[in-house]
Amino acid sequence: MTTKETRLIIDLKALAENYKTVKSQLKPETKIMGVVKAFAYGTDSEIIAHKLVDYGVDYLAVAYTEEGVRLRNSGIQTPILVFYPQIEELSNLIDYRLTPSVYSFNFLIGLNKHLNELETIDFPIHLKINTGLNRLGFDLDELDEIYEEIQTNKRVKLSGLFSHLAASGTASQVDFTKQQIEKFQIARQFFIHKFGETFVSHLCNSSGIFNYPEAEFDMVRAGIALYGYGNNEAENAQLIPVSNLKTVIAQLRTIQKGESVGYERMFKTEKEAKIATLPLGYTDGIARQFGNGKAEILVNGHKAPIVGNVCMDTLMVDVTGIDCQEGDDVTIFGKEHSAVSFDKFQQTIPYEIITRISQRVTRVIEI
Ligand SMILES: *Cc1c(COP(=O)(O)O)cnc(C)c1O
Repeated sequence: MTTKETRLIIDLKALAENYKTVKSQLKPETKIMGVVKAFAYGTDSEIIAHKLVDYGVDYLAVAYTEEGVRLRNSGIQTPILVFYPQIEELSNLIDYRLTPSVYSFNFLIGLNKHLNELETIDFPIHLKINTGLNRLGFDLDELDEIYEEIQTNKRVKLSGLFSHLAASGTASQVDFTKQQIEKFQIARQFFIHKFGETFVSHLCNSSGIFNYPEAEFDMVRAGIALYGYGNNEAENAQLIPVSNLKTVIAQLRTIQKGESVGYERMFKTEKEAKIATLPLGYTDGIARQFGNGKAEILVNGHKAPIVGNVCMDTLMVDVTGIDCQEGDDVTIFGKEHSAVSFDKFQQTIPYEIITRISQRVTRVIEI
């Protein structure tokens, strides 16, 4: 393929560096679960999963069963945790040896019933405990009942216990996070008392890894850090963006005072201006909220604002005073201009920017 088009360059060297950085934060014996949900945060889940396995990752995690099936079909043998398995997908979950996160009685009972029909015993599961995010998981007052359900049926085996932190990257939420850790400890002690230390415990996501080393337990779940971002400046400083979204200038034009750019004429210039049109738009994942000066891209080393409304397949930037030609390569975001600097007014988080790059954009692997 030609490089002269909109493309997402996936930098595997950066991935390897970020993996090392994550590992260097941990005790040598702590396991790493590499989170590759949502196309590995908008990159390419199969390629990233295989790389992480090469680096020695102990577990992988996806959001939905279908994502796990794709990884198995690509030859991944490593255990795969499915964060949000749906009851309708149980046959695939079992056939493809995916490990469900069990977060409700409805799911647990459905799973037991299914395994009973298959006459399967000891099917590994990870139990999800709600410690304050209030999204998915069992509350602490349900532990006895879960234990009963597992013990009576013997269809599932507790091979992992986990919970998820709500604000592990937020300095003002340290007390709350410590309470979450406490609650998780209670659940962990409960099951150790019942089953012995026969399961892995995991609590930290990326920011948890950086900020709560006391909560490492047996394993951590690294997502965004592997892709080069954290939840604050200190974390970002240690990581290298893996996703580099680039394109080329399709056309340059000079407009005069009083002329406008784009639909609804949202940008009007006060003076002569040089406008570059880029061949990517909201379909490709650059949301309309980034139009009208809300985001900046990099043109030959200079920041240039998006002007006017972002279109479906194109957007325009003001390159007045920047030396550039039609056909020049420009960076929307990447290593030298992160998603945080692209998103000038911090309207969203890097997670959303990088995961939204649509499947229409060609992925290019850089090794
Ligand atoms: C997505 C996700 C993670 C990874 O979080 P990061 O902040 O990207 O490291 C970990 N655990 C659960 C349950 C998740 O859904």
